[in-house]
Parts: sequence; structure tokens; C-alpha cells
Amino acid sequence: ASPTETLEFQAETRQLLQLVIHSIYSNKDIFLRELISNASDALDKLRLESLTDSDLAVDTSDLHIMLEVDREARTLTVRDNGIGMTRDDVVDLIGTIAKSGTASLLAKIKEAKDADVAQSLIGQFGVGFYSAFMVADKVTLRTRRAGTDQGTAWESDGEGTYTIAQADGLPVGTSVTLHLKPADGEDGLGDYLATWKIRQIVKQYSDFIRWPIRMATEPVGTDAGSGAEDGAEEGAEGAAASAPETLNSMKALWARPRSEVTQAEYNEFYQQISHDWQEPAETIHMRAEGTFEYEALLFIPAHAPFDLFSRDTKRGVQLYVKRVFIMDDCDALMPNYLRFVKGVVDAHDLSLNVSREILQHDRQITAVRRRLVKKVLAALKDLRTSNAEAYAKLWEQFGRVLKEGLLEDRDNADTLLELVSAASTHDAQAPTTLREYVERMKDGQDTIYYLTGENRQMVENSPHMEAFTAKGYEVLILTDPVDEVWTDQIPAFDGHRFQSIAKGQVDLDDHADGDGSDEAKAEKAQREEDFAALLGWLRSTLAEHVKEVRLSTRLTTSAACLVGDAHDLTPTLEKMYRAMGQ
Ligand code: ADP
Ligand code: MG
Repeated sequence: ASPTETLEFQAETRQLLQLVIHSIYSNKDIFLRELISNASDALDKLRLESLTDSDLAVDTSDLHIMLEVDREARTLTVRDNGIGMTRDDVVDLIGTIAKSGTASLLAKIKEAKDADVAQSLIGQFGVGFYSAFMVADKVTLRTRRAGTDQGTAWESDGEGTYTIAQADGLPVGTSVTLHLKPADGEDGLGDYLATWKIRQIVKQYSDFIRWPIRMATEPVGTDAGSGAEDGAEEGAEGAAASAPETLNSMKALWARPRSEVTQAEYNEFYQQISHDWQEPAETIHMRAEGTFEYEALLFIPAHAPFDLFSRDTKRGVQLYVKRVFIMDDCDALMPNYLRFVKGVVDAHDLSLNVSREILQHDRQITAVRRRLVKKVLAALKDLRTSNAEAYAKLWEQFGRVLKEGLLEDRDNADTLLELVSAASTHDAQAPTTLREYVERMKDGQDTIYYLTGENRQMVENSPHMEAFTAKGYEVLILTDPVDEVWTDQIPAFDGHRFQSIAKGQVDLDDHADGDGSDEAKAEKAQREEDFAALLGWLRSTLAEHVKEVRLSTRLTTSAACLVGDAHDLTPTLEKMYRAMGQ
């Protein structure tokens, strides 16, 4: 073999390495996720190349990733039989960070006083391979590119230089050997030689990697406290005889074509990620191709979680990047009013180190969220038409939260209004949609009447209701606190304003049902005169308590009722605000 050469890291790479070693990451476990993801990419590349280049003589029948532990030497090796690298590849890919903007980003990171800020900046370029130096004080990489004969060995302690040399007799693929720092429990360094620890990290971050991740797990008993009981090969005589075990399930349901997945499989997956024992009400599986590729598998649960309205309810779905787990509860992907939606989004072109802050401001992610929201709302709308009974059940569970969307998500207000289901004087039991209400409106009626209150009975018995019931107008009975807010802020449904019958002057006589005649006006004027003295007395007596006293056509049997100004808070809202301390 040729002599070993010692080369210097490019200045920026060196700076980045210093940052990694003197650690920006509180979670060191992710180094394994990074190395496995690189190995998985290398296997993808080899398979692709073997399909497109028939001259490439490689065996692709058993592509896999192997994890090897040597306790004596304190090393952990991640080996793949993927595409491999040439010597030049190693220098270019491992020795440099060619990404543009690296210098200015590094400057920003150094200026950042706050560790969180630094960490989120780092996320903008994945640290990838270098994360190995968080847990290792020396890293050896051996690799041979498919289709070439010459292997390369690379080694570094991550300080200023690395060595590179020819290596003979290597198989096609890459192995990365980490000489582990001592696991003393400080610095968040786990025991990366322990089978249970490796198993746990693989399960957490790399379970859905499409290639098998294998490890020779020892016979039961030699790995104290390992938790290796489940699935460990039994009957093996010593470590050498133990058959490698596949640690990951590889079953990424969302990556399979819809036609190949059964509802039973969807349900099982849902139960696994949601910890719900029931089946989901709706399953949405989609794939987006183009500039920003992703797969999404979303579920609408059949029932609301107990903490749907608690202040710290988590929202969002799990985020994966190319089958590597990135985070739970990715709030950037779901608006607050869809916090009950569960599922997975697997994006193909994000850095593995992407942070919540970056996601919140990422235009692509915003576009993904917009699309997901549309999908969820469309699924709900479809269910309403195809299975009204099932929809009614779902609305009972999530209607209150969905109505928050009317305030939160003006872009989809029209769709959300189509989804609204409300009690009404039209039917004592069955709720109505706004569309149905509008279809039943009387000739000349152009506003949608509603009355809010604590419960149906209170609303029905309200004196405000009398004239409307008497004259045969339908009134929506709205009993959720949020109803007071959205009815006030949403201008109209299908061109029809929302009008509380408890607020302002609702003049039923304005409608063209004959009462707007001259005769009626004259009668009204006469009444005003008759009652002038009484009204004057009431106004002065009640001055402290009411703004105005007027004759009304609202009431048929009650003598008087209190009416809010068109812009006053309603009693329920007043209560709500008071409860919030405003
Ligand atoms: P990224 O994966 O985001 O490109 P990394 O720092 O993780 O960044 O890796 C840098 C590059 O090194 C990869 O893009 C790949 O070309 C090369 N590389 C790393 N690990 C392997 C491997 N196991 N097999 C082949 N190439 C690899
Ligand atoms: Mg990588």
C-alpha cells in the first residue's frame, strides 16, 4: 500500500468540528441516526446504479447495514455494502463542507449567545458524518467504491487533520468505526457498546429504514441488563455463533402504495402511534411529488382525547426525513384547531437536524401544512355527504375545536362553515348545516338568526325567542363558548350575515311579509306616542343599568327583555373573558 498522507481539514470544516465536539447537541444519541442514514443512502445509490449500469458487477442480493461492537477495543462500527467512495470522494465529501453559505452561517453561530439559537442554526446544514465526533475521539472510515478495485482508509481525531491511505482487500461498501469516548454518564454520553442502548436508538430513530439493520446480539446472559431477551437468538455457543438479528421493522407503511395497504394495517399503525385502542374514523394517505417530495399518512381519531382543551395539549404529527425519525408533535405541520389529527409526514429534502424554529419559518413546510389542512377538511366534508351519521358522531367529538378554525384559519373559513353542524329550532333533535338552514329561510329573510346560551333549554326559553318562534323564523341554537366569537367575526355564510337575535335591533317587520306597509308604520308611530311617557320614565329610572329603552316587536307574551348592543359582549362571552382575567 502507498504511504499514509496527512491532510488538513478545510478551515470551515475544522470550525464546524470544534462546534460539534464541544457540543452543541444535548442529544448525542443522534450520531447513530446520522451514520445509519448515510449507510442507507449508500445502499439506495448502489441499487439504483446496478439497475442503470449493467456493467457494474456487484452483488446486490443482500444489501444491509451491520452494527458491530468490540468491547475490548471500545469500538462501534457501522458497516454497509453500499456504493462506497473513491479516494477523491472521501477527500471531497468527508474532508470538506462544500455547501455554500457555510462561512456566513458559522459566523452567525459563533455570534449566537444562546445554545438553542446555535443549535437551530447548525440544523440548517446537517452535521451528518461529523456528529460521530460527539461520541468518539477517533473515527476510522474504510471504503471501496463499487466498480473499483482500490480501497481507501481515512482516520481522524477531529482536531485539525486527517490521514488518508490506500487499503487493500476491502469489500465494496463503507465501514465507519468509532473509538468511543468513555461513557461516564456525564456529557450525556450513553453506553454505546451496550446492546440495549443500540437497540433503543435504532428503534427510536431508524426503525423504518428500508434496509435491514443487523447486529450480532449475544446469547442471553452475557450482556448484563441488556434487555436483549426479546428476539435474541438462543442456543448459540458464545458470541461468534450468535446469528445477527435485524433490529428495525423496516415497515414504513406510508412509503407503500395505497393500493397495497389494507385498512387493518392502517388501523394497527394508527393504534401504535396514537396509543389509542379504537380504530381511526378517517385515514388519509398521500404522496406529493415535485420540488418538495413527501409522504403523509394522517388519521382522524374516532374520539377526542381527554386533554383536547387543556392548555398544553400537544399538536402535530410525527416528522420523518427519508424514513429517519426526526420529531414527535411537529407543530409546524398542523394548525392548532386540527390538534387532534395524528400521523406521520416523511419529507425527503430536509436536514436531519432541522429544528422546530426552522420548520416554523420554512416556506416549503408552510406549503405542506396548507395542503394537509385542505386534505383533512376535504375528508371531513366527504364523510358528511357519504355518512351523515358517522359525521355527526365526529362533529360531537371535534366540532368545538373545528370551530376555532373559523377564527384561526380565515383561508379555509368557507370550507369550515360548510362543516359546521348546529342545533336549531327547526328540529328538536337533529342538528342542521348552514346550507340546510339557508335553504329553509323564509321569503325575504336574508340573515341567519342565532341565539347563544349555556344550553339548549335556556336558549329555547329565552324571551328573545318568542317573536321568532311565533312568526316561524328558524333560529340556530349555539351553546359552545366559541360560537359567540366566530358568529361575531365571520361576516357571512353564502352571502347571509349572522344575526344574533339578542343583539341590536332585529326588525322582523322589515321583511316583505306585508308588515312593512304604510299602515303598519302609522300604527308603530301611534304606539310610540302612546308609550312615550312610560318609556321616558323607564329611561330615567333605569339610566344606571341600561343604555336604551325601546318598544319592541320581539315579544309576544313577555312584558320586557334585555337586549345587548350590536357590539356589546354577550353574557357568556363576558363570563369567558372574566374567567381569563381580562
Ligand atoms: P449528507 O448525508 O447530508 O450528505 P454527511 O455529512 O452525512 O452529509 O455525509 C457527507 C457525504 O459523505 C454524503 O453525502 C455521502 O456522499 C458521503 N458518505 C457518507 N457516508 C457514506 C457511506 N456510508 N457510504 C457512501 N458515502 C458516504
Ligand atoms: Mg448524512
